[in-house]
Amino acid sequence: MAAIDGLPPLRAVIAAHDLVAKKQLGQNFLLDLNLTARIARAAGDLSGCDVLEVGPGPGGLTRGLLAEGARRVLAVEKDARCLPALAEIAAAYPGRLEVMQGDALALDVAAHLVPPIKIVANLPYNVGTELLIRWLTPAHWPPFWDSLTLMFQKEVAERIVAKPGPKAYGRLALLSQWRADPKIVLTLPPEAFTPAPKVHSAVVHFRRLDAPRFAADEAVLGRVTAMAFNQRRKMLRSSLKALAPDIEVRLRAAGIEPTARAEEISLEGFCALAREVAAT
Ligand code: SAM
Repeated sequence: MAAIDGLPPLRAVIAAHDLVAKKQLGQNFLLDLNLTARIARAAGDLSGCDVLEVGPGPGGLTRGLLAEGARRVLAVEKDARCLPALAEIAAAYPGRLEVMQGDALALDVAAHLVPPIKIVANLPYNVGTELLIRWLTPAHWPPFWDSLTLMFQKEVAERIVAKPGPKAYGRLALLSQWRADPKIVLTLPPEAFTPAPKVHSAVVHFRRLDAPRFAADEAVLGRVTAMAFNQRRKMLRSSLKALAPDIEVRLRAAGIEPTARAEEISLEGFCALAREVAAT
């Protein structure tokens, strides 16, 4: 039976184009168009927006984005085998889907998009965190994008939204929450994908902030949090000793007990400390 957009069901697309999933490309496909439409809706109102999609594969999420009204989708796919399937979608939505073949880590796509821009992707797990960090640390802020709606392994999603505590909290949470307002909007069991991965997944929506949540120099904040979390079990007066000879004074000036550990310190606390460290 044809789907709502008149295109064949995804299982038929995959069979017709012989898209046997390749593990090294992180290929776990979503075949349920109701689900891909839900993910597209999690990105908010798409009408009037350009959408960058990384890793469209056979195009399940791409179809969701177009059916949900995206003005235009630019889809970047590394696997050339997917191009004929994506061309069929482009033909069903004239002028609204552009496909670029290549490695999203190597291509500079911002110039091909017209604001407002949303990034929506069921990311290949092996490149997902790297792309996220790049999108959160551009040369200039605000970045080219307005929001990110991204699928991660659930464990990574939990690290992104984590608050201070012993397990998930770390540099990824601090960077994500300094620049944006990340929220888990959907969790998915392995069976939602074909082939099924070993772990659960989750979609995180990031609304970017116009300015960082708390003032701090990005490089200093990065240095402080890297040193603090590289030795997360140690007291900060010891893990940060190399930052400044009077680190205990600076920790206290930032409102932090020198005997505290990294996982106890809020984003606001780390930003205050970065300001104290920068004020030399
Ligand atoms: N979006 C599709 C879906 O939801 O069914 C496919 C998702 S699959 C998890 C990840 C996709 O990213 C695959 O199609 C894979 O070929 C593609 N991919 C992997 N590495 C990539 C890279 N560096 N740049 C662009 N695409 C990549």
